[in-house]
Amino acid sequence: MVEHPTLLSPMLDTCFMRSSNTHETFRLSLPTPAGDLRAEISVPTGFIPISDIVPLMRSLGEQALQLEEANTQRAGHTVSCRKGCAACCRMLVPVSPPEAFRLKNQVEQLPGPERDRLLERLSTTKHALNEAGLLGRLMQLSETRTQLTDEDVEPMNQAYYAQRLPCPFLEDEACSIYDFRPAACRELLVTSPAELCLDMARNPVQPLSVPFRVATILSLTWAKLTGGPARLIPLPVALDWADRHADENRPHETGKTLLEMGVEKILEFLRQRS
Ligand code: SF4
Repeated sequence: MVEHPTLLSPMLDTCFMRSSNTHETFRLSLPTPAGDLRAEISVPTGFIPISDIVPLMRSLGEQALQLEEANTQRAGHTVSCRKGCAACCRMLVPVSPPEAFRLKNQVEQLPGPERDRLLERLSTTKHALNEAGLLGRLMQLSETRTQLTDEDVEPMNQAYYAQRLPCPFLEDEACSIYDFRPAACRELLVTSPAELCLDMARNPVQPLSVPFRVATILSLTWAKLTGGPARLIPLPVALDWADRHADENRPHETGKTLLEMGVEKILEFLRQRS
Protein backbone atom coordinates (compact mmCIF):
# COMPACT_ATOMS: atom_id res chain seq x y z
CA MET A 1 0.00 0.00 0.00
CA VAL A 2 1.31 3.46 -0.98
CA GLU A 3 0.68 6.42 1.36
CA HIS A 4 1.54 9.90 0.05
CA PRO A 5 -0.97 12.74 -0.22
CA THR A 6 -0.72 14.26 -3.70
CA LEU A 7 -3.07 16.80 -5.20
CA LEU A 8 -5.24 14.99 -7.74
CA SER A 9 -6.80 18.14 -9.15
CA PRO A 10 -6.18 21.65 -7.79
CA MET A 11 -9.70 22.63 -8.85
CA LEU A 12 -11.32 19.90 -6.79
CA ASP A 13 -9.26 20.16 -3.60
CA THR A 14 -9.13 16.39 -3.79
CA CYS A 15 -6.00 14.62 -2.59
CA PHE A 16 -4.76 11.17 -3.43
CA MET A 17 -4.15 9.33 -0.15
CA ARG A 18 -3.25 5.72 -0.81
CA SER A 19 -3.79 2.79 -3.15
CA SER A 20 -4.01 -0.98 -3.00
CA ASN A 21 -4.05 -3.40 -5.92
CA THR A 22 -7.74 -2.79 -6.49
CA HIS A 23 -8.66 0.59 -5.00
CA GLU A 24 -7.45 4.19 -4.72
CA THR A 25 -8.44 6.39 -1.79
CA PHE A 26 -8.90 10.15 -2.01
CA ARG A 27 -9.49 12.81 0.59
CA LEU A 28 -12.16 15.25 -0.47
CA SER A 29 -13.15 18.68 0.78
CA LEU A 30 -16.35 20.29 -0.53
CA PRO A 31 -17.51 23.78 0.50
CA THR A 32 -21.29 23.29 0.72
CA PRO A 33 -23.74 26.01 1.89
CA ALA A 34 -24.23 23.92 5.06
CA GLY A 35 -20.47 23.84 5.85
CA ASP A 36 -17.30 22.12 4.66
CA LEU A 37 -17.85 18.48 3.84
CA ARG A 38 -14.74 16.34 4.35
CA ALA A 39 -14.63 12.68 3.36
CA GLU A 40 -12.28 9.89 2.38
CA ILE A 41 -13.47 7.99 -0.66
CA SER A 42 -12.22 4.72 -2.15
CA VAL A 43 -12.85 3.88 -5.79
CA PRO A 44 -11.78 0.89 -7.88
CA THR A 45 -8.62 1.45 -9.94
CA GLY A 46 -10.10 -0.29 -12.99
CA PHE A 47 -12.83 0.70 -15.43
CA ILE A 48 -16.30 0.59 -13.87
CA PRO A 49 -19.87 1.37 -14.96
CA ILE A 50 -21.20 4.67 -13.67
CA SER A 51 -23.84 2.82 -11.60
CA ASP A 52 -20.93 1.72 -9.35
CA ILE A 53 -20.40 5.28 -8.06
CA VAL A 54 -24.05 5.68 -6.99
CA PRO A 55 -23.44 4.61 -3.33
CA LEU A 56 -20.52 6.98 -2.84
CA MET A 57 -22.39 9.93 -4.39
CA ARG A 58 -25.41 9.17 -2.19
CA SER A 59 -23.11 9.00 0.81
CA LEU A 60 -21.71 12.47 0.00
CA GLY A 61 -25.26 13.78 -0.36
CA GLU A 62 -26.25 12.32 3.01
CA GLN A 63 -23.18 13.80 4.71
CA ALA A 64 -24.06 17.23 3.27
CA LEU A 65 -27.64 16.79 4.51
CA GLN A 66 -26.35 15.91 8.00
CA LEU A 67 -24.48 19.24 8.04
CA GLU A 68 -27.70 20.98 7.04
CA GLU A 69 -29.69 19.11 9.69
CA ALA A 70 -27.16 20.05 12.40
CA ASN A 71 -27.48 23.73 11.39
CA THR A 72 -31.27 23.42 11.50
CA GLN A 73 -31.11 21.91 15.00
CA ARG A 74 -28.86 24.71 16.18
CA ALA A 75 -31.52 27.12 14.89
CA GLY A 76 -34.09 25.35 17.11
CA HIS A 77 -35.87 23.17 14.51
CA THR A 78 -36.03 19.39 14.22
CA VAL A 79 -36.72 17.07 11.32
CA SER A 80 -40.15 15.49 11.83
CA CYS A 81 -39.76 12.56 9.37
CA ARG A 82 -40.05 9.19 11.15
CA LYS A 83 -40.27 5.52 10.16
CA GLY A 84 -43.88 4.61 9.38
CA CYS A 85 -44.70 8.07 8.06
CA ALA A 86 -44.85 7.67 4.30
CA ALA A 87 -47.10 10.56 3.32
CA CYS A 88 -44.48 11.84 0.87
CA CYS A 89 -44.26 8.41 -0.84
CA ARG A 90 -47.17 9.52 -3.06
CA MET A 91 -45.06 11.99 -5.00
CA LEU A 92 -43.35 11.37 -8.33
CA VAL A 93 -39.75 10.36 -7.58
CA PRO A 94 -37.11 11.37 -10.18
CA VAL A 95 -34.33 8.83 -10.69
CA SER A 96 -31.03 9.44 -12.53
CA PRO A 97 -29.93 6.90 -15.19
CA PRO A 98 -27.10 5.48 -12.99
CA GLU A 99 -29.62 4.98 -10.16
CA ALA A 100 -32.08 3.28 -12.55
CA PHE A 101 -29.42 0.75 -13.58
CA ARG A 102 -28.50 0.11 -9.96
CA LEU A 103 -32.12 -0.25 -8.90
CA LYS A 104 -32.72 -2.81 -11.63
CA ASN A 105 -29.73 -4.89 -10.43
CA GLN A 106 -30.82 -4.66 -6.82
CA VAL A 107 -34.41 -5.64 -7.59
CA GLU A 108 -33.11 -8.63 -9.56
CA GLN A 109 -31.15 -9.74 -6.48
CA LEU A 110 -34.15 -9.64 -4.11
CA PRO A 111 -35.38 -13.01 -2.80
CA GLY A 112 -38.02 -14.47 -5.15
CA PRO A 113 -41.20 -13.82 -3.09
CA GLU A 114 -40.12 -10.27 -2.24
CA ARG A 115 -39.32 -9.52 -5.87
CA ASP A 116 -42.64 -11.02 -7.03
CA ARG A 117 -44.62 -8.86 -4.56
CA LEU A 118 -42.76 -5.79 -5.71
CA LEU A 119 -43.28 -6.50 -9.41
CA GLU A 120 -46.98 -7.10 -8.76
CA ARG A 121 -47.32 -3.72 -6.99
CA LEU A 122 -45.41 -2.10 -9.85
CA SER A 123 -47.79 -3.63 -12.36
CA THR A 124 -50.83 -2.41 -10.33
CA THR A 125 -49.35 1.10 -10.20
CA LYS A 126 -48.70 1.17 -13.95
CA HIS A 127 -52.24 -0.05 -14.60
CA ALA A 128 -53.65 2.78 -12.44
CA LEU A 129 -51.37 5.31 -14.20
CA ASN A 130 -52.54 4.04 -17.57
CA GLU A 131 -56.18 4.42 -16.51
CA ALA A 132 -55.42 7.99 -15.45
CA GLY A 133 -53.78 8.71 -18.82
CA LEU A 134 -50.37 9.27 -17.23
CA LEU A 135 -48.33 6.17 -18.08
CA GLY A 136 -47.63 7.18 -21.70
CA ARG A 137 -46.57 10.66 -20.56
CA LEU A 138 -44.18 9.17 -18.00
CA MET A 139 -42.66 6.88 -20.66
CA GLN A 140 -42.23 9.88 -22.99
CA LEU A 141 -40.59 11.84 -20.20
CA SER A 142 -38.11 9.02 -19.62
CA GLU A 143 -37.03 8.93 -23.28
CA THR A 144 -37.15 12.59 -24.32
CA ARG A 145 -34.07 13.95 -26.11
CA THR A 146 -35.01 17.48 -25.01
CA GLN A 147 -33.37 19.04 -21.97
CA LEU A 148 -36.31 19.62 -19.63
CA THR A 149 -36.43 22.20 -16.83
CA ASP A 150 -38.14 21.86 -13.43
CA GLU A 151 -40.93 24.06 -14.83
CA ASP A 152 -41.45 21.69 -17.78
CA VAL A 153 -41.92 18.72 -15.43
CA GLU A 154 -44.06 20.47 -12.79
CA PRO A 155 -47.47 19.83 -14.50
CA MET A 156 -46.61 16.11 -14.60
CA ASN A 157 -45.59 16.16 -10.92
CA GLN A 158 -48.90 17.76 -9.99
CA ALA A 159 -51.00 15.38 -12.11
CA TYR A 160 -49.20 12.40 -10.58
CA TYR A 161 -49.55 13.65 -6.98
CA ALA A 162 -53.27 14.30 -7.56
CA GLN A 163 -53.71 10.51 -7.95
CA ARG A 164 -52.25 9.90 -4.43
CA LEU A 165 -50.88 6.55 -5.64
CA PRO A 166 -48.64 4.85 -3.09
CA CYS A 167 -45.13 4.25 -4.44
CA PRO A 168 -44.87 0.67 -5.73
CA PHE A 169 -41.88 0.18 -3.42
CA LEU A 170 -44.02 1.02 -0.36
CA GLU A 171 -45.09 -2.00 1.69
CA ASP A 172 -47.19 -1.57 4.86
CA GLU A 173 -46.33 2.15 4.81
CA ALA A 174 -42.58 1.42 4.94
CA CYS A 175 -40.06 1.57 2.12
CA SER A 176 -39.28 -2.01 1.03
CA ILE A 177 -36.00 -0.88 -0.57
CA TYR A 178 -34.91 1.46 2.21
CA ASP A 179 -31.16 0.75 1.94
CA PHE A 180 -31.12 1.41 -1.78
CA ARG A 181 -33.94 3.95 -2.12
CA PRO A 182 -33.31 6.75 -4.64
CA ALA A 183 -31.38 9.88 -3.68
CA ALA A 184 -34.50 12.02 -4.13
CA CYS A 185 -36.24 10.05 -1.34
CA ARG A 186 -33.27 10.59 1.01
CA GLU A 187 -33.33 14.33 0.35
CA LEU A 188 -36.98 15.00 1.19
CA LEU A 189 -36.99 15.84 4.92
CA VAL A 190 -39.30 18.34 6.58
CA THR A 191 -39.24 20.38 9.78
CA SER A 192 -42.97 21.18 9.72
CA PRO A 193 -45.51 18.97 11.59
CA ALA A 194 -45.84 15.54 9.92
CA GLU A 195 -49.63 15.90 9.43
CA LEU A 196 -49.05 18.75 6.97
CA CYS A 197 -47.46 16.21 4.60
CA LEU A 198 -50.87 14.61 4.05
CA ASP A 199 -51.47 17.32 1.44
CA MET A 200 -48.13 18.67 0.35
CA ALA A 201 -49.72 20.63 -2.51
CA ARG A 202 -51.89 22.81 -0.22
CA ASN A 203 -50.19 22.84 3.18
CA PRO A 204 -47.23 25.05 4.14
CA VAL A 205 -44.70 22.20 4.40
CA GLN A 206 -41.15 23.27 5.36
CA PRO A 207 -38.60 21.08 3.58
CA LEU A 208 -34.99 20.94 4.77
CA SER A 209 -32.72 22.79 2.35
CA VAL A 210 -30.66 20.36 0.24
CA PRO A 211 -27.01 21.42 -0.28
CA PHE A 212 -26.84 19.57 -3.63
CA ARG A 213 -29.19 17.14 -5.35
CA VAL A 214 -27.50 13.79 -5.95
CA ALA A 215 -29.92 12.62 -8.67
CA THR A 216 -29.19 15.83 -10.61
CA ILE A 217 -25.42 15.39 -10.12
CA LEU A 218 -25.56 11.78 -11.34
CA SER A 219 -27.78 12.75 -14.24
CA LEU A 220 -25.40 15.55 -15.30
CA THR A 221 -22.44 13.14 -15.04
CA TRP A 222 -24.33 10.61 -17.20
CA ALA A 223 -25.14 13.36 -19.74
CA LYS A 224 -21.43 14.26 -19.95
CA LEU A 225 -20.50 10.62 -20.53
CA THR A 226 -23.15 9.94 -23.16
CA GLY A 227 -23.74 13.33 -24.81
CA GLY A 228 -27.50 13.20 -24.13
CA PRO A 229 -29.73 15.41 -21.96
CA ALA A 230 -29.47 15.39 -18.15
CA ARG A 231 -32.33 12.95 -17.83
CA LEU A 232 -34.43 12.21 -14.74
CA ILE A 233 -36.62 9.12 -15.04
CA PRO A 234 -39.94 8.78 -13.17
CA LEU A 235 -39.56 5.94 -10.63
CA PRO A 236 -42.58 3.85 -11.81
CA VAL A 237 -40.94 3.43 -15.25
CA ALA A 238 -37.28 3.36 -14.11
CA LEU A 239 -36.92 -0.45 -14.33
CA ASP A 240 -38.39 -0.44 -17.86
CA TRP A 241 -35.95 2.32 -18.86
CA ALA A 242 -33.00 0.41 -17.38
CA ASP A 243 -34.10 -2.73 -19.28
CA ARG A 244 -34.23 -0.86 -22.59
CA HIS A 245 -30.84 0.79 -22.03
CA ALA A 246 -29.01 -2.07 -20.27
CA ASP A 247 -26.17 -2.15 -22.81
CA GLU A 248 -25.32 1.51 -22.10
CA ASN A 249 -24.21 0.75 -18.53
CA ARG A 250 -20.82 -0.58 -19.55
CA PRO A 251 -17.53 0.22 -17.79
CA HIS A 252 -16.95 3.71 -19.21
CA GLU A 253 -14.08 5.10 -17.17
CA THR A 254 -11.85 4.39 -14.17
CA GLY A 255 -13.27 4.92 -10.69
CA LYS A 256 -11.01 7.96 -10.27
CA THR A 257 -12.26 9.62 -13.48
CA LEU A 258 -15.91 9.03 -12.58
CA LEU A 259 -15.30 10.39 -9.07
CA GLU A 260 -13.67 13.50 -10.53
CA MET A 261 -16.54 13.99 -12.99
CA GLY A 262 -19.13 13.63 -10.22
CA VAL A 263 -17.30 16.03 -7.89
CA GLU A 264 -16.92 18.57 -10.70
CA LYS A 265 -20.68 18.44 -11.23
CA ILE A 266 -21.26 19.00 -7.49
CA LEU A 267 -18.99 22.06 -7.62
CA GLU A 268 -20.80 23.39 -10.72
CA PHE A 269 -24.12 22.87 -8.91
CA LEU A 270 -22.84 24.71 -5.83
CA ARG A 271 -21.44 27.58 -7.94
CA GLN A 272 -24.78 28.04 -9.69
CA ARG A 273 -26.58 28.23 -6.36
CA SER A 274 -24.22 30.77 -4.79
S1 SF4 B 1 -38.68 4.38 -2.98
FE1 SF4 B 1 -39.17 4.08 -0.83
S2 SF4 B 1 -38.81 6.07 0.15
FE2 SF4 B 1 -38.91 6.42 -2.07
S3 SF4 B 1 -41.06 6.98 -2.48
FE3 SF4 B 1 -40.87 4.77 -2.78
S4 SF4 B 1 -41.41 3.83 -0.81
FE4 SF4 B 1 -40.99 6.01 -0.45
